[in-house]
Amino acid sequence: MGLKETLKALEFIGITEIYLNRKMSEGEETSERKLKQEDRNKLLKELYKQWRECTRCDLHKSRTQVVPGDGNPYSPLVFVGEAPGEEEDKQGRPFVGRAGQLLNKLIEEILGLYRDRVYITNVCKCRPPGNRKPTPIEMRYCSPYLKKEIEIIQPKVICCLGATAGEGILGKSLKITKVRGQVFPYPFNPRIKVFLTYHPAYVLRNPKEENTLRKDFEKLKELIAQQ
Ligand code: SF4
Repeated sequence: MGLKETLKALEFIGITEIYLNRKMSEGEETSERKLKQEDRNKLLKELYKQWRECTRCDLHKSRTQVVPGDGNPYSPLVFVGEAPGEEEDKQGRPFVGRAGQLLNKLIEEILGLYRDRVYITNVCKCRPPGNRKPTPIEMRYCSPYLKKEIEIIQPKVICCLGATAGEGILGKSLKITKVRGQVFPYPFNPRIKVFLTYHPAYVLRNPKEENTLRKDFEKLKELIAQQ
């Protein structure tokens, strides 16, 4: 995505300013590229160690445990959801409940991959009580964790599952019905494409939308192939 297209896409969702690293724009070696030489598993483990006792926001009071991202840290594709649910809070892994089963099914049937070939994480790493949506403050406190995960993994595509994930990644509130199926540049690294679709839990509650989710996954497959 060129600079002009990048700015146009960001303007569409109301972002009118981005920070461009001069070195990145000139194609010089960046700290990100140097990270490719590192063991990303080790970096992710260190990141989790820093956050597993986190008490930055009130969600720590009701959680069983911090739920880190899970999967292949060398994947070109990262899925981002909202926050752990009951089952995820118990097991300490993201997307292991019914929504996770639907996600796994789509990853296998449409993308032709096994779940462990991609990386899956959430905007907030602790379960909100009653599975409510995380508040903007909780999302803001947890955002450095997600930002660092993306920096370590350096995916080509981030697929946001639902509006909250889109807000966490793009930093702007969104209407998922308006932006799903579309591609935006990741504000912290415009080389990374951000794709938005429904959260599988929404589709479980609204089965008529499964076809739309499937079509979006077909688009996602094309997007990964373009890279
Ligand atoms: S949600 Fe994030 S910021 Fe809040 S306590 Fe959990 S790890 Fe810390």
